[in-house]
Amino acid sequence: MMKALVLDATYYPVQLIDWRKAMILFFTDRAEVVDYHDDIEIRSTSESFKLPKVLRLFTKINTLTHVKFNRLNVFHRDKFQCQYCYKKFRESELTLDHVMPKSRGGLTNWTNIVASCHTCNNKKGPRTPEECNYKLLNKPIEPKWTPMMAFKLSNLEKIIFKDWFFR
Ligand SMILES: [Zn+2]
Repeated sequence: MMKALVLDATYYPVQLIDWRKAMILFFTDRAEVVDYHDDIEIRSTSESFKLPKVLRLFTKINTLTHVKFNRLNVFHRDKFQCQYCYKKFRESELTLDHVMPKSRGGLTNWTNIVASCHTCNNKKGPRTPEECNYKLLNKPIEPKWTPMMAFKLSNLEKIIFKDWFFR
């Protein structure tokens, strides 16, 4: 998959993103293209564009990197996968689990809360993952990119790019 590098408004590198998301940032006036891939074009039936290689965001990076800690954003960060049994669930089937139990001083924040299905959460109870032989799928961290934004972008892709292809 072709990637594009995103810079913040001060030209500081932020992250690599999928080329589709790069095009969306450009088309929605959220970024300008700093450099293109010379040899790759994407085409619709009427137009063609060179593929962006480096983009610079107009938005200040603080507003992009600060991700609000809430239930839905945790689920998006964890890709709606229970972090203990690794299966995918719907929002209604997931709960928030304190990795270090609250009763033992565990905090309610990005680094101690993970998505868990009801079954795993009940089995785990007030224990640590190690104490019940659970291995976390991913170490919980504060995400740098708003999960809701990524989610919205992935929805947009389908609309804008359904008629598009690489030449
Ligand atoms: Zn589970």
